[in-house]
Amino acid sequence: MPRIDLHCHSTVSDGLLEPAALVRHAARQGVEVLALTDHDDVGGLEAAGAAALELGIRFVPGVEISVTWRNHTIHVVGLGIDAGNEALLQGLAAVRGGREERARRMAESLARAGIPGTFEGALRLAGGPRLLSRTHFARFLVEQGHARDVKRVFRRFLVRGKPGYVPHQWAGLAQALGWIRGAGGLAVLAHPGRYDIGPVTLGELLSEFRDLGGAAIEVVSGSHTPEQYLQFGRQAAAFGLLASAGSDFHGPGESYLDLGRLPELPAGCAPVWQALDAGPPH
Ligand code: AMP
Ligand code: MN
Ligand code: MN
Ligand code: MN
Repeated sequence: MPRIDLHCHSTVSDGLLEPAALVRHAARQGVEVLALTDHDDVGGLEAAGAAALELGIRFVPGVEISVTWRNHTIHVVGLGIDAGNEALLQGLAAVRGGREERARRMAESLARAGIPGTFEGALRLAGGPRLLSRTHFARFLVEQGHARDVKRVFRRFLVRGKPGYVPHQWAGLAQALGWIRGAGGLAVLAHPGRYDIGPVTLGELLSEFRDLGGAAIEVVSGSHTPEQYLQFGRQAAAFGLLASAGSDFHGPGESYLDLGRLPELPAGCAPVWQALDAGPPH
């Protein structure tokens, strides 16, 4: 089985490596099939695809779309998308537009809590007028000594009920799946183990996701425990969904799992990559 990683981030969203550098890192780690899945942006796919071609890695163009489902934020990965698809591009642009507005409100909230200058700080760490995510705020708060690391920032700030958190309306689930499928991609429910929802609600989410044409769920993920690999492997099979695997790598030292270090899918899973046309081996 080839070494596969179908979920990671570059500087186009909240990763630490530029797209081409990310692909070089993946190659060094022995990855043979790689999807770049930046949050709400496909701006890194061209450079990453070119680097992958040079290095002999199969490249899967991807994206990770932020979705509001009921009152929960969930993430849907699109794999094998046509990054030139007009409806997809317009949809993602609208989601990103909401991010700028949200970042300003986050900064106001943090300023009221006695921490000024976070919008400018996050913008600097994002490397200019790019997509702003909570991760950029978290890195700035670490830099300013408000917490020891990004994990701790998220616990003290930036999550529901803490200063720096602002509620936000992302894309709808049907909308996000429409964009992905309209662009020829497969929709994958990202890291289901990370959502703060009980088993009944999760079942409802999986049914709705499948009924809207969702193809797969992430079974092996940097956000999951080994017990969750088995749990979500069983659930994928129960719902007739394929299984995906991705590290959710954001950068050296900032992620649980480095690229190319994923365990195999549990037995009984139908791998999503068999349904992907990743192109011929180079
Ligand atoms: P946003 O899309 O701006 O709300 O930011 C979400 C991103 O924040 C995720 O993709 C992760 O990269 C990061 N994140 C969320 N929760 C945590 C956490 N508890 N620890 C570290 N990073 C987190
Ligand atoms: Mn992220
Ligand atoms: Mn995610
Ligand atoms: Mn991610």
